[in-house]
Amino acid sequence: MRTLKLASLLAAAAILLAAQTRRTLDIYWIDVEGGASTLIIAPSGESLLVDTGFPGNDDRDAKRIQAAAVAAGLTKIDNLVITHFHGDHVGGLAALSKAMPIGKIWDHGESIEASQPNGAMLWQNYLAAAGNKRKVVKPGDKIPLAGVDITVVSANGEVIAKPMKRGFVNELCEGAERKPTDNTENSRSTGFLLTYGKFTFLDVGDLTWDREMMLACPTNKIGEVSLMQATHHGFSNGQSGAPALIWSLKPQVVVVNNGARKGFSNGGYETLAKIPQVEGIWQGHKGAMNDADHNTSDDMIANLEEGAADKGNWIKASVSSDGKFTVTNNRNKFSKTYTSR
Ligand SMILES: [Zn+2]
Repeated sequence: MRTLKLASLLAAAAILLAAQTRRTLDIYWIDVEGGASTLIIAPSGESLLVDTGFPGNDDRDAKRIQAAAVAAGLTKIDNLVITHFHGDHVGGLAALSKAMPIGKIWDHGESIEASQPNGAMLWQNYLAAAGNKRKVVKPGDKIPLAGVDITVVSANGEVIAKPMKRGFVNELCEGAERKPTDNTENSRSTGFLLTYGKFTFLDVGDLTWDREMMLACPTNKIGEVSLMQATHHGFSNGQSGAPALIWSLKPQVVVVNNGARKGFSNGGYETLAKIPQVEGIWQGHKGAMNDADHNTSDDMIANLEEGAADKGNWIKASVSSDGKFTVTNNRNKFSKTYTSR
């Protein structure tokens, strides 16, 4: 009797210990239907959410974020990065902050659209929800997350002044197409490089072509990466996705957080397909505006349906300390394992 009790106690303790000592870095791309919400859980268990999806729709996006957080074993969000103050990134915050405790909130500073009607509303709602939790970051700053390195590479329209260790002179700059300076919140996006051993993950929010070129030329200031979240939901019809950056980053795997009809076009897919040595393209949604040759294989698309039929499936990456990472489609459990170069 006593032995049995001890055994079940030990079993319970083992489960608790397993939850406390994660062995992987996990990244979830939550389906917020063309908005952005990426949940990162460090091997230490500390969490960082990047963006909160849209407002409205009966708090659909906040509920999906909470569901992903609960599935990941979280009871709170330790850190939140708001890349910029557009509704598809900051809109879910008010509902999410009522549903779950949120620790620190990192942003790029005042919205450049705060004097426009819609921009003012988003900015004021953000200030009300974020309260005294805000911390403003600039390029080169670190966002502390136990067990991984997170370096801010872009914020408030500026990019890191000096190349990082893995940066290099970029041969793709000569003759590369340039686009005019963007003066919206997109170009203000806070972007960061996460490093965990040999694995690197780049998320630059909706950073625009002109700022991508600042990161890419004449020196690729970031270096090559293992995994990239496609800029701007899949380059948004050429507003982002400068090949001089995307192709020189040489991401092995790209995750596109597109909506069925937002962000991702045939041209966006072509830019991804031409990445040298790309090993995997994963999509949040099947691009309804893309033709059959310009979507990745159905196995690697989390949501094939749109509108009311959309189930809100996520894509997840689990990264081991040896640099191996497995990407899984939550819809069909299809997965592939890659090795960070
Ligand atoms: Zn966006």
